[in-house]
Amino acid sequence: FDRLKSGLSRSREAINEIFYMGGEVDEDFWEDLEDTLVMGDMGGELAMRVTDDLREQAARENLNRADQLRDALAKRLAQEFRTADRDPFEDVPSCVLFVGINGAGKTTTVGKLAGRARGEGKSCLIGGADTFRAAAIEQLEVWGTRAGVDVITRERGADPASVCYDVVEEAEKRGTQLVLIDTAGRLHTSSDLMRELAKVVNVTRKRCTSMPVTVVLVIDATTGQNGLAQAKEFNDALDLDGLIVTKLDGTAKGGIALAISDQLGLPIYRIGVGESIDDLETFDALDFCRALVG
Ligand code: GDP
Repeated sequence: FDRLKSGLSRSREAINEIFYMGGEVDEDFWEDLEDTLVMGDMGGELAMRVTDDLREQAARENLNRADQLRDALAKRLAQEFRTADRDPFEDVPSCVLFVGINGAGKTTTVGKLAGRARGEGKSCLIGGADTFRAAAIEQLEVWGTRAGVDVITRERGADPASVCYDVVEEAEKRGTQLVLIDTAGRLHTSSDLMRELAKVVNVTRKRCTSMPVTVVLVIDATTGQNGLAQAKEFNDALDLDGLIVTKLDGTAKGGIALAISDQLGLPIYRIGVGESIDDLETFDALDFCRALVG
């Protein structure tokens, strides 16, 4: 939580400024609040909706000092996040496919989750379906060793869907509880990538009859509004189940996590708050919004 708090410090400082300015809730306060939410990557429509609701609440409950509204803002923002019906990393057996562009943090996240699963005594297998880049396979193997989890992959250039087939077959043979499959984040073109990933998802869903398959988009919070466009493209092609937002320890404006969850109607399963194996947290909407608002 401390890492998240320091990561979100830029957004929080901006919000703090309006809460401390004058202290009176007047027309300027509402304008500043809406602007600050937009600047924090939440998007205009969401910022307006939240500001309007809070303004109504302030009128109804006679809240006319800014500091009385701080927690109300955090609670109102938290309502915008979708909640998950199921935690694909806790409710096992479970097979999870990770998608997202290169550099988003897929491999690192798979490694962190594998480490966590092993720590909890769950059996786990990693599948390496990014057969496009040799370095991707090597990096995944480094994480597998670190986490103490076997990695199943094939040579560079092999069909990624066949890797998924192999890993599910092996998991069923072993009775593995948690299967984590990393996929490619870049091919020659973006439409090639979406087509390949759609095939990977379809084959895995068809082959994997013994456990639910969850498709998770890993997204780098520091990419701001670009992240939203990316998330839409993946969701249109793959019908995502949920999100993992990484790099919230850095210079991200946390509002992008809210904007994506809200616009795509997807839950956030975990957040990444650093590069090492323990730097992954379960997402709690209210804690997150309190860290955002201060
Ligand atoms: P992939 O291409 O999507 O598999 O991305 P990687 O897992 O290789 O991660 C890309 C870079 O982001 C690496 O340098 C990771 O250490 C870094 N990274 C991943 N997650 C986080 C995070 O939550 N916080 C920070 N600060 N860095 C991260």
